[in-house]
Amino acid sequence: MRVTFASEPATPAHPNEDFVGATADAAVLLDGASAPAGVTSGCSHGVRWYSHTLGALLLAELTESTEPLPEILARGIERVTSLHQDTCDLSRGDSPSATVVMLRRTGDRVDWLVLCDSVLLLDTGAAEPTVVCDDRLNHLLKPSRDRVRALEPGTPEHAEAMREHVALVNECRNRDGGFWVASTDPRAAEEALTGSVPAEKVRAVALLSDGASRLVDRFHLATWREVVGMVDRYGPAELIRRVRRAERSDPDGKRWPRGKPSDDASAVYCTHLNGHRP
Ligand SMILES: [Zn+2]
Repeated sequence: MRVTFASEPATPAHPNEDFVGATADAAVLLDGASAPAGVTSGCSHGVRWYSHTLGALLLAELTESTEPLPEILARGIERVTSLHQDTCDLSRGDSPSATVVMLRRTGDRVDWLVLCDSVLLLDTGAAEPTVVCDDRLNHLLKPSRDRVRALEPGTPEHAEAMREHVALVNECRNRDGGFWVASTDPRAAEEALTGSVPAEKVRAVALLSDGASRLVDRFHLATWREVVGMVDRYGPAELIRRVRRAERSDPDGKRWPRGKPSDDASAVYCTHLNGHRP
């Protein structure tokens, strides 16, 4: 398998909370969920530590194990929890969390897993790539997010709506009927979307954090097919360049209302999954 990737923080001064890693047979992408401004957590490590520690553990496991991907993820979540449950208060429900995408080639199969709102594009040569994304989070939070966006930042009403939004996120996270993300509860792994396809059918696979997928699913400036073509031709960094260009053209979010002007953005592109040129 050949893998190229690019990953950039929202701004140069901001630590990148996305994690990307790959071997010749596996790739992982995690998007750490930033804590809202003013919210403190019972964990002293932070989101970047969480996404990078879990991501590195998953990558190591993927090269050693042929177990189903949800089992590897569940064990990874348990291990990271054990690394800080004695020093941090993980009972408050605001522990660091991350979305997860895993890809593994074993023998003649390609296995994938997607947890929460990162995106996996599976290009089998069909007219449209298969798009895998768990959008429970976005469905659940849309009304509350729309309320926040309709209010003027800096006003008491905006602050109150923001507080309610953050409370809702904490209420829905890793609960039945809510949304699931990697944090401290290994049951989240059972909620991931998974699949397996013969390697010979796969031309390429792209893994995207939502900071990169927004060119399509928020800005509507490209189709998924165009993104696969762009990354294939110019590399993953080109996708992020185009996202940043769109963001710069709308710094106040007037055209595309969004919580953060820019977000950490990562794109991974895998080809030659069958061991020969597609
Ligand atoms: Zn901690």
